[in-house]
Amino acid sequence: MTWTAVPELIAGAAPGALGAFNVIALEHAEAIAAAAESAKRPAILQISENTVAYHGGLKPLARACLQIAADSSAPLAVHLDHATSHELITTAVEVGIRSVMYDGSTLDYAENVAETARIARWCHDRGVFVEAELGKIGGKDGAHAPGVRTDPDEAVAFVAATGVDALAVAVGSSHAMHTRDAQLDDGLIARLALKVPVPLVLHGSSGVPDEGLRAAVRHGMTKINIATRLNIVLAQSVRAELSAHPALSDPRGYLGPGRTAVQHEVEHLLRVLG
Ligand SMILES: [Zn+2]
Repeated sequence: MTWTAVPELIAGAAPGALGAFNVIALEHAEAIAAAAESAKRPAILQISENTVAYHGGLKPLARACLQIAADSSAPLAVHLDHATSHELITTAVEVGIRSVMYDGSTLDYAENVAETARIARWCHDRGVFVEAELGKIGGKDGAHAPGVRTDPDEAVAFVAATGVDALAVAVGSSHAMHTRDAQLDDGLIARLALKVPVPLVLHGSSGVPDEGLRAAVRHGMTKINIATRLNIVLAQSVRAELSAHPALSDPRGYLGPGRTAVQHEVEHLLRVLG
């Protein structure tokens, strides 16, 4: 299948939400694509700035993800997650990524608006979809912290002032949660969905139980980012394989079962979101 634009993926996922899953190793991308194919759902393969730092560059993993997306029978797109620099966004666009998140949430409000607007104009000139964040979503950085909430009127003003295509909002989830007990504010999600004219993105979704995810989608969340959940499943599988087979050394012997475990988790999550 040829590359699909994010707005088409969002439309294709409706009335459910679009699952966006973070890729760290090649096995993540293979698992996400296989899951999207078997669940017959669109999905996003996303690469975070932290993962780029881990690999020492974006291009090798980005090219692999773009190729996996192009070869898949499922509608897939590749997205750059939580980029804080225009330089990284430029590299992503050069390599062929057509959807990026610019994260100016550590800036004060006026600076975030100015920088996000500048980057959105640059991206739109090149046909690139832009997600941005207002305030912080907690955990590793503070707007998706359990106590932080996006104000609907501020969100409307931010979208109008920046021209972004999607907005990450703080509604009760938090990044990198290892328990699934986050309580989302469904009333706030509904108010945001009613007022904000672009798709809403939920970050920190790994800490939200399945029923909470279903409710968030029903109340108007459009793109659901999931990273930590996949890594918990991968680590559990690898740990079990290595414990069961102490002499195992070939990575295919433990990464293979790990990849299958991630695939099954993504299939499950895609059904929850759909
Ligand atoms: Zn995030």
